[in-house]
Amino acid sequence: MARILLTNDDGIEAPGLRALLRALRPLADVTVLAPDHNWSAAGHTKTMHKPLRVKPYRFECDPPAAPASPGQAGGLAGVVAYSTDGAPSDCVALALLGILPQAPDLVVSGINQGANVGHDVTYSGTVAAAMEAVIFGLPAVAISLNDYQSHDFGFAAEVGSRVVRQVLARGLPPGIFLNVNVPCRPTEEILGLEVTRLGRRVYRDILIEREDPRGQPYYWIGGEPPTGHEDEGTDIGALARGYVSVSPVHLEMTAHELLPTLREWVWD
Ligand code: MN
Repeated sequence: MARILLTNDDGIEAPGLRALLRALRPLADVTVLAPDHNWSAAGHTKTMHKPLRVKPYRFECDPPAAPASPGQAGGLAGVVAYSTDGAPSDCVALALLGILPQAPDLVVSGINQGANVGHDVTYSGTVAAAMEAVIFGLPAVAISLNDYQSHDFGFAAEVGSRVVRQVLARGLPPGIFLNVNVPCRPTEEILGLEVTRLGRRVYRDILIEREDPRGQPYYWIGGEPPTGHEDEGTDIGALARGYVSVSPVHLEMTAHELLPTLREWVWD
């Protein structure tokens, strides 16, 4: 049986992680190493200036509302799981540097509460965990649900298991991970799956200035959730039209188109 390391950035108690864990257990031997609190928008962190603690974690039984279906029976008892005070990318590093007795075949991160599309991949702790995996030479999948509130992760978990089955069967070229985003709408209104490129986010951040009890100003970056350009062929466009989006992403960020021009600049 394949071995999967499962992590996330919303924290080990997040419902998205549990839903994905249930969906992946029939496919693989899944070990969880996830943050003990919410690290959303932590980006690609490497904790270097403080120690990291790793504690065994026990999942409580399924909520009684969820009747066990074939392959999902038995809840989450018996899952080998750990929580840490480190970031999502730290989770992957900790696991691969020795917390796990054997390296996994695949790293899966999610299901995140909220889409990770376009420029989000540079902020996302969910995606950063997948990036850390490819740095270690392992294939990875990051999965996010396009809603900040809905706890209905059932369909997204099913998508996750389908994508993971494909990756385990076909593999991924070194250095590449899949970034999966799932629309939040009734299953019958989901039109299919599109393979996409990363789109362009439009952030609506505003600077909020307040005063602390000592009369000193402090700042909070707030504002409305981001929107984006719904361009054809992009992750943002696919979600807007009701498609699951699967983007292949690598860490090769060189601007190749500028190489010849830049070589002509006067450098001495
Ligand atoms: Mn998150």
